[in-house]
Amino acid sequence: MSTVIPQDASALSAHGSVAAWTERYTGAVMDTFGPPQRVLVRGEGAYVWDADGKRYLDLLGGIAVNSLGHAHPTLTAAISAQLGTLGHVSNFFGTPAQIALAETLLRAAEAPEGSRVFLTNSGTEAVEAAFKMTRRVASSSGLGTRTRVLALEGGFHGRSMGALALTAKAAYRDPFEPLPGGVEHLPFGDLAALDAAFSPQAIAERGEVAALVVEPVQGEAGVRSLPPGYLVAARRLTTTHGALLVLDEVQTGMGRCGSWFAYQQAEIGGGIVPDVVTVAKGLGGGFPVGAVIAYGAAANLLGRGQHGSTFGGNPVAAAAALTTIGVIERDGLLANVREVGALLRQEIEMCGSPLVKEVRGRGLLLAIVLHEPVAPQVARTALEAGFIVNAVAPDTIRLAPPLILTAEQAMDAARFFATLVVEPVETLADQSEE
Ligand code: PMP
Repeated sequence: MSTVIPQDASALSAHGSVAAWTERYTGAVMDTFGPPQRVLVRGEGAYVWDADGKRYLDLLGGIAVNSLGHAHPTLTAAISAQLGTLGHVSNFFGTPAQIALAETLLRAAEAPEGSRVFLTNSGTEAVEAAFKMTRRVASSSGLGTRTRVLALEGGFHGRSMGALALTAKAAYRDPFEPLPGGVEHLPFGDLAALDAAFSPQAIAERGEVAALVVEPVQGEAGVRSLPPGYLVAARRLTTTHGALLVLDEVQTGMGRCGSWFAYQQAEIGGGIVPDVVTVAKGLGGGFPVGAVIAYGAAANLLGRGQHGSTFGGNPVAAAAALTTIGVIERDGLLANVREVGALLRQEIEMCGSPLVKEVRGRGLLLAIVLHEPVAPQVARTALEAGFIVNAVAPDTIRLAPPLILTAEQAMDAARFFATLVVEPVETLADQSEE
């Protein structure tokens, strides 16, 4: 039998041009994402290099994942050390890294006594676990559980069947019906609609609400913040009705918006304490790890034997997350996110390009709204100029750079946006991807 590993497997990045790799990609990788924009082989700090040796300033950070940039020496050393000590155990056992990560997340969340964490491998899995928790909310009569879950239009929560049921986008959902039932999508940020969902009539017709699941800042919908006061009203209504308030901070959490969790900022959360928070993306600095943080009594919603995961809590992933959080603290990166985020926003706002209409967002999760629906072309032009950005909507560019971004790099990015002019261009397919 011939070997399945090619001879060059140990030095993959040294071989092949972007064109050659792209051809191999399309021959071997399922076509869910379309052909790659470039094939990348190496990274360092906020920069990555493609197979042809071209350098890019990574203003997307693996879509809000590479918190510490690329190939961070402290993270690399911690991952290697954990792998060289204990790389995996079954979930019949605990490890110091797993336990310390759970404790650290509870401290970052300022979670009350009794709160607990479930570790996952991705954001979708964290949402999936949270969705299962909503099915365990008892009805007020004590007979059975509730199945009615509220989510928001524009919301994105993942693509597995449960997470997809919470995700609002018809194009993602329709080919996969029937999805788990009971989810209602309310208009984004609409307090009257939220009130109505909890009205006696709605409850009589459709049942008691088990949970409201929302992103404090919708990422995939183009970095849209909930209006001030929304989460406070949501907390009041969910508490009154014995429903869970679930915050999906997969994209906004772990420092991305300038605080550990976006809801902790007074202008967003107004001081509320949620029942459940999901995180992933930036948590492991590039390593696949996510978490569900269950506050107080919500920690008991999934009892023994009611959920599980082979890899969730893997010690290498946990060490990556602990180290990422440790470096964010050690290097004052939350403050860097606030300062460089504000600078980046202001410099792009004032860059003078007639194409730039508005910049919005929090910390280093920003959207640049254009006057024309040419975001895919802008993303392509950026790539040519050595900048990685994302067209999250036809008229919207999303930036989610590493939290280590410097003021000089922010200025470089703004100088690129200053070069954009309004010109008639052919319409390209929307290249938004989570
Ligand atoms: N929730 C939110 C808010 C997200 O932005 C995403 C990913 N874009 C997910 C869940 C799914 O996370 P993952 O891709 O890690 O499964």
